[in-house]
Amino acid sequence: MSETFSHPQIQDGWFREKPTLWPGQAMCLEIEEVLCHEKSLYQDVLIFKSTQYGTVLVLDGVVQCTERDEFSYQEMITHIPMNCHSNPEKVLVIGGGDGGVLREVAKHESVKEIVLCDIDESVIRLSKKYLPGMAIGFDNPKVTVHIGDGFEFLKGKVNSFDIIITDASDPVGPAESLFQVEYFKLMKNALRPGGIISTQGECQWLHLNLITEVQSYCRDIFSVVEYAYTTIPTYPSGQIGFILCSIDDQVNLKKPLRKWSEEEEEKLCRYYNSQIHEAAFILPQFTKNALKKIS
Ligand code: SAM
Repeated sequence: MSETFSHPQIQDGWFREKPTLWPGQAMCLEIEEVLCHEKSLYQDVLIFKSTQYGTVLVLDGVVQCTERDEFSYQEMITHIPMNCHSNPEKVLVIGGGDGGVLREVAKHESVKEIVLCDIDESVIRLSKKYLPGMAIGFDNPKVTVHIGDGFEFLKGKVNSFDIIITDASDPVGPAESLFQVEYFKLMKNALRPGGIISTQGECQWLHLNLITEVQSYCRDIFSVVEYAYTTIPTYPSGQIGFILCSIDDQVNLKKPLRKWSEEEEEKLCRYYNSQIHEAAFILPQFTKNALKKIS
């Protein structure tokens, strides 16, 4: 990048996150080198090499993933639903343009077909160039990629997928529609019997109102609705949650139905294991109280 390169979030060699949905706080990361900056049709795409967190993908001023801690999010949003399904064969990923969720889905031998729909081709193209550790997910022959709006993609899909993972950015900008009740109805219609959804569910320290709102309308749509979370240093307040739902009231999302052996977990994962699967659903009292109020 030329010396004259400038970006509203970069000053004195540091990136400072734009506090869109978390006023008054901002993650800062020291920059080693800016690798690319593009304004796509949908969002501002910035990728830089940080001094401590590897390469970082930023969309519209918000950290999406870093090489050092992405595995926490990608593994948990994927393996919690996948290991609660008896035989997941057809998986849909909405968003996920960095390829990390695809990489994780492919670790399940039962999977026959993975479809990904992301609105922004530039995220996929630039992730393949600068984030190969995640974009390796696109190399899997079982993967089909659609470029388009996930909301539109789901219209008309019926009885099509065992697992739907919505790995979207925040509900401002192109991902806004992916947090609305109509979107969750579309996902329900697209599920096969026993189907499970897993969506990026924001942070209980910052977005409890949004979480309870989404949980509330999910309870009218799905038989089972849960909230779980993972720890991840570079997301606001160091953690992010997942809204997990099933159309089958016999599904217990809080315990894995299928488990890898300890040796397999060691080989396959760096964050997920069967114990932390269960621990992810143990919530602080303030969250439990808030979720109880909407019952
Ligand atoms: N792990 C990140 C998080 O928790 O915020 C998300 C990372 S992933 C890069 C977010 C992806 O959502 C981006 O590739 C973006 O293009 C995609 N996206 C945003 N709105 C979308 C929509 N309406 N339909 C499909 N993909 C969308």
